[in-house]
Amino acid sequence: MKRKVVAKIPNLGKRAIVVGAGLGGLSAARVLSDYFDEVMILDRDELPDDAIPRPGVPQGKHAHLLLAGGLKALENLFPNLGNELMRTGAEPIDPGFDILIEDSGRDIWPKIKFGRSTYSMTRPLIERVLRRYVERIENIKVRGGCRAHNIISESKARAATGIQFQMVDGSRETIKSDLIVDASGNGSLTVEFLKSTSRRPPEETSIGVNIRYASALFERSHICDDYKIVSSLPSAREETRGGVIVAAENNINQVVLAGRGKDIPPIDGNEFLSYARQLRTATVYNAIKDA
Ligand SMILES: Cc1cc2nc3c(=O)[nH]c(=O)nc-3n(C[C@H](O)[C@H](O)[C@H](O)COP(=O)(O)OP(=O)(O)OC[C@H]3O[C@@H](n4cnc5c(N)ncnc54)[C@H](O)[C@@H]3O)c2cc1C
Repeated sequence: MKRKVVAKIPNLGKRAIVVGAGLGGLSAARVLSDYFDEVMILDRDELPDDAIPRPGVPQGKHAHLLLAGGLKALENLFPNLGNELMRTGAEPIDPGFDILIEDSGRDIWPKIKFGRSTYSMTRPLIERVLRRYVERIENIKVRGGCRAHNIISESKARAATGIQFQMVDGSRETIKSDLIVDASGNGSLTVEFLKSTSRRPPEETSIGVNIRYASALFERSHICDDYKIVSSLPSAREETRGGVIVAAENNINQVVLAGRGKDIPPIDGNEFLSYARQLRTATVYNAIKDA
């Protein structure tokens, strides 16, 4: 008879620090909690109880899509995440049935039930749900209002040994750590640490995107044929504007208008509508014009 071998999880140290309580930081902390006695997450923002945008994640006001692969990966770390998202109001999405993509020169895909779902919700909601999971893990501590200032190292600069951070009242604190994960979203802490310890920072490649978004929330407005998500794409080169609607929690729609180059989408309400009216297809405008 074969004996079942249960892998013993090695203990890698006393404390790990994760800088950033975004999706990357929360996921990293969840994994590290299996290997360290204590995991501390530090975020510069005071973390809100509600699912609302916050300054440290400015992109959080724009519509986000959680693709099915992303959901699967997150469910490996946070069991039952899909159900939990739905319980908090996220919309189940069948990509074959609920998404309308209006691309120039291509037919509309037939509506076919794939039977596999992902969920749509605002970026703050998914973060709030993940943070609740993490806060329930005994050896993880989440500290908001702590802006990491720099990574510190021991005298010979062989290794990073802790973090110095600043709290909202301006006071500074230093915490030692066996491992530091920089999930601050832009990597500048790591780059500064490499420079300050005479190491070469990684090479950078810059790619100009030159697209601007204007986003707004509308009370749930009806998209034709009961679609939950629509993407109206421009005919590339000649046209510069596109629009997206993504259903979200609390019966709202996230509406994004995008412009390329000098075609900047407006943020004034009336101008927003008139910009939407000039998209290549009428679907987005029709869905929001009376909302
Ligand atoms: C307009 C836009 C639309 C997008 N749409 C999608 C989408 O549809 N689907 C998708 O999967 N992705 C999308 N993305 C990408 C997605 O937003 C990012 O990949 C994701 O948020 C990265 O997560 P993160 O945890 O690495 O970083 P972030 O979410 O940026 O989190 C970084 C965290 O670090 C904190 N922080 C920063 N500096 C410090 C410091 N010094 N000390 C302490 N804390 C600090 C911040 O407060 C924040 O909480 C979009 C991005 C943009 C800009």
